Amino acid sequence: MTAADPLARLVSQARETRAVVVGGGIGGLVAALELAKVGMPVTLLEASDRVGGLVRSADVAGIRLDVGAESFATRGGTVRALVDELGLGGDVVPPAAHGAWVAGLPGGAAAPLPKGGVLGIPDNPWDPEVRRIIGWGGAWRAYRDRLLPPLTIGHDRSLGHLVRKRLGGAVLDRLVAPVTSGVYSARPDDIDVDLAAPGLNAALTRTGSLTGAVAELRGERQVAPGGAVAGIEGGIARLVDALVARLEDLGVEVRAEAPVIGIAPAEDGRWGVRLAPPADADAEEALTADIVIVAVPEAEARRLLSPVVPALDPEPGPAPVVEIVTLVLDAPALDDHPRGNGVLTVPHSSRAKALTHVTAKWEWVRRAAGEGVHVVRVSFGAQGEDPATADLGDEDATALALTEAAALLGVPLEANRLRGAHRERYVQSLPGSALGRAAEVAAARGAVRAIPGLGATGAWLSGTGLAQVVPDAVAEADRVRRAALWGHGEPQV
Ligand SMILES: Cc1cc2nc3c(=O)[nH]c(=O)nc-3n(C[C@H](O)[C@H](O)[C@H](O)COP(=O)(O)OP(=O)(O)OC[C@H]3O[C@@H](n4cnc5c(N)ncnc54)[C@H](O)[C@@H]3O)c2cc1C
Repeated sequence: MTAADPLARLVSQARETRAVVVGGGIGGLVAALELAKVGMPVTLLEASDRVGGLVRSADVAGIRLDVGAESFATRGGTVRALVDELGLGGDVVPPAAHGAWVAGLPGGAAAPLPKGGVLGIPDNPWDPEVRRIIGWGGAWRAYRDRLLPPLTIGHDRSLGHLVRKRLGGAVLDRLVAPVTSGVYSARPDDIDVDLAAPGLNAALTRTGSLTGAVAELRGERQVAPGGAVAGIEGGIARLVDALVARLEDLGVEVRAEAPVIGIAPAEDGRWGVRLAPPADADAEEALTADIVIVAVPEAEARRLLSPVVPALDPEPGPAPVVEIVTLVLDAPALDDHPRGNGVLTVPHSSRAKALTHVTAKWEWVRRAAGEGVHVVRVSFGAQGEDPATADLGDEDATALALTEAAALLGVPLEANRLRGAHRERYVQSLPGSALGRAAEVAAARGAVRAIPGLGATGAWLSGTGLAQVVPDAVAEADRVRRAALWGHGEPQV
């Protein structure tokens, strides 16, 4: 290759294009990887003392466990492709097929959540598993769906409104709300059907009923949207370790305890990135970069970007808070996984939002825990309400989690069964399928894209979940990288 060679020029241009990625969650780590792959010098700045963001692990009673995200949706294949690229493909494992339960039914009953629904909407209200949850009255009410005219003026965007109107309150409260609350931390009324279940409204018009539409979608897709997930033996947090190792191989500087406090234009069209001074120093540090990708949660992203992206609204949307209490218990009574892989709850029927029976769901955790020892994760906080644990100290939060776990699992669990506990608080992004969210995100993306050398990614833009965050980070890094190397034209190679 000679200097005049366009390929050689590209190689050196990439090497001279300095990039900073702000935020070390999965979005930031993946964006840094995409930039570093083409030879760009990259620095990743993470505010806290560890990278990974909402993907976290902790040692609880001697077992290394995921205490944040614990699986990934297999749809789209992008997370799997990343896992393979990082050499973890051989360790991908499916969850056990025990299914989930719903608790908080009339009389305090619990029952297996019927398989075959879309967002909890059943395809047949007379199915005994469905009728057991919604009762005879609920089944007759849902059956009216078949008799109602299919066409409304326009169509319903609100999932809650659509389900209430066509199938009634029992289906909404006992089947759909537990799923949206457990999966999206949102009320059905706030979910946009067209984004959460694409094609459902069109199928409703075609088939003449909502249950018919669910049956048609299920037939086409085989699984409910978002239904298929996988885990990694040893924990999803291994993905973070593997990403960091790959970044370091590629020469990326990964800096923890490096909170960014400002971004401002620098000389020659470059960007200055200001870091908070360390506790033992007064002077701020500043880095200069040709491109900056911001991969932090919404409130912080809007605060950092709005001074340099005039069209970006500085006001963030609401951010649901959830708390997860992980319990390790001596409880042979749980050996038979009495509530399958876990329990979703009818909203307001208990103080917890959901429970995962981790040792039932993941075989590798069962092996790591040993005979008669069980791991249970209790989640608090849903639908915009503060978690019931919010004002409690760790000991009281653990005690509440234990009481809720016993009630949801239908098994007595005394305090002396507890081997260890871990509590973690998370601020989540609104789901991408929240009503009105698509327009807000499009406006934010449009504003950032108008500014050369800047990019933004992360769950607040892509929607929550690794299957959303990973492809978005890849695409955003690619967009900014291309613009830096080729302007907006086509590659000349
Ligand atoms: C309890 C829980 C369970 C979940 N379970 C699953 C699951 O099983 N499967 C799934 O696919 N998804 C799951 N999710 C969602 C998924 O974890 C997230 O959507 C995803 O990890 C978000 O990644 P991110 O990079 O966008 O943001 P984050 O993980 O929030 O990362 C942002 C990073 O930016 C850093 N930061 C903030 N401000 C600054 C600053 N000024 N300077 C530098 N750094 C800064 C933060 O410290 C953080 O590390 C779960 C989420 C939660 C809360």
